Amino acid sequence: QQFQGVVKDCCCDYGTVDLLNKEVLHPLLQELVRTPFFRYYKVKLWCDCEFWPNDGMCQLRDCSVCECPESEFPAAFRSSGHASCQEGTPEGAVDRTVDAKAFQGWTDSDNPWTVDDETESEDMTYVNLLLNPERYTGYKGESARRIWDAIYAQSCFENGENETCAERRVFYRLISGLHTSISTHIAADYLVDESVNAWGKNVALMHERVLQHPERVQNLYFTYLFVLRAVIKAEAYLSEAEYLTGNDSEDNLTHKLVAALVGNERLRTACPIPFDEAKMWRGPDAIELKEQLQSHFRNISALMDCVGCEKCRLWGKLQISGLGTALKILFSLDGETSAGNVIDLQRNEVIALMNLLSRLSESLELVHEMADVVKGHNKLS
Ligand code: FAD
Repeated sequence: QQFQGVVKDCCCDYGTVDLLNKEVLHPLLQELVRTPFFRYYKVKLWCDCEFWPNDGMCQLRDCSVCECPESEFPAAFRSSGHASCQEGTPEGAVDRTVDAKAFQGWTDSDNPWTVDDETESEDMTYVNLLLNPERYTGYKGESARRIWDAIYAQSCFENGENETCAERRVFYRLISGLHTSISTHIAADYLVDESVNAWGKNVALMHERVLQHPERVQNLYFTYLFVLRAVIKAEAYLSEAEYLTGNDSEDNLTHKLVAALVGNERLRTACPIPFDEAKMWRGPDAIELKEQLQSHFRNISALMDCVGCEKCRLWGKLQISGLGTALKILFSLDGETSAGNVIDLQRNEVIALMNLLSRLSESLELVHEMADVVKGHNKLS
């Protein structure tokens, strides 16, 4: 057990979160994101960066796996050329028939926290997320650093961890927790030996970027609990929604898994309110502050179009959309979810929300797994 006590800004303690995640939520989410409804994500993958029109990263529209310059890329990606590219190409990963068969009955509804990406256009493609796992891609250097800098440079995050305004602190922690999760997935699925194209865990990288910064791990717990709270709050909506893809048995399973997650008895007993959104937006300048933070988050969502690597952009967009959906559920909708069903989500938002929760849940498991390896090394040396 790495941390003791209650997760800061939340309502549950670390031990309970670990137990619930390991025994209940992680296995459920793993199964859920494999179902047809949740594994296809509709996204505009082209790089339309509105902030840096001259960023060379965004010129190569046809480049498949990553739009980084070749020089920045590990040789294995270059030499395996077409085959490895195919995994990431829209053509390779898209199932266009899904549109006609599936997903009926979901309406369009706006989200004030994100730049809406679901407007129908030729540029939208369906990506099979299982064929495009979030992992090391070789995207780093100036372009990646510029995105993270731009995210953290948003004025609302300037005091980071030490921010005394709860709303601003929550925002910083959400982004930092997501960043921890992305770094964790990079370290957990890394090109460890380029010469033989061998993939595996890079525990040293995990230690350097994540484990030696306890506050980053704590922020991961926080983001996880925040998103979990949003999923629970949307229980009535999510358990009544239709998850139709044209395959009855798979769709029934999806429905059952969602119900088992959102109405989970063990979760309800052990950690009934993972995050208490009722405590937020109470100050005299609450309305102004909310509008300001919404605008910052919309900027972050637009920044995802500047991520110069296709697979990173896919997962960046999905996870920021998932976070935006959680913000919408917790902060933009009035009243109880069951009364009058005030929540209205887009199909894509639900897919992003559950996939984000699954990524975060997986990251918690990986943190423990790799921390144990580090501890083992330390004992031996
Ligand atoms: P970075 O991770 O780039 O961090 C930059 C700086 O931010 C650090 O020096 C530190 O000061 C600070 N920082 C780091 N972590 C935290 C934290 N948790 N909380 C607060 N501050 C922190 N690369 C891939 O290989 N695969 C991907 O799927 C992928 N997806 C990405 C998605 C997005 C949206 C972005 C912006 C980048 C993505 N990248 C991906 C790139 C990856 O995140 C790193 O930028 C890259 O690996 C270089 O890492 P770095 O060591 O320079 O530190």
